[in-house]
Amino acid sequence: MSQMSIQEYQNAVDKWVKTYGVRYFSELTNLGILMEEVGEVARIMTRTYGEQSFKEEDANPALADELADVLFVTVCIANQTGIDLTAAIEKNLQKKSTRDKERHWNNPKLTGNTGVKPPDNKP
Ligand SMILES: [Mg+2]
Repeated sequence: MSQMSIQEYQNAVDKWVKTYGVRYFSELTNLGILMEEVGEVARIMTRTYGEQSFKEEDANPALADELADVLFVTVCIANQTGIDLTAAIEKNLQKKSTRDKERHWNNPKLTGNTGVKPPDNKP
């Protein structure tokens, strides 16, 4: 698989569900599955980057696969609720860029200083 747009992925997931999954699980079932998958990501990350450690049998975690699981079920929910994720992502990024334009540059926990202005060439 090379480059795939968000819309192409939404279409591919829809085709997969209708081919192999019979139909979409209900929205609430998919919400539960999303929570499960996020938990699997959390388990790997707390043991890889946090203070927890892996049991011997869990020594080869697949963070990429678990993130893909989160994305898959997220797209299932978008598909079954009629959400165009391309438009939603563009709108969300625009919102974050406007609302948080200087917010993080003014966070001394991030900049190590107070009152630092963002450089002019910052997006
Ligand atoms: Mg998983």
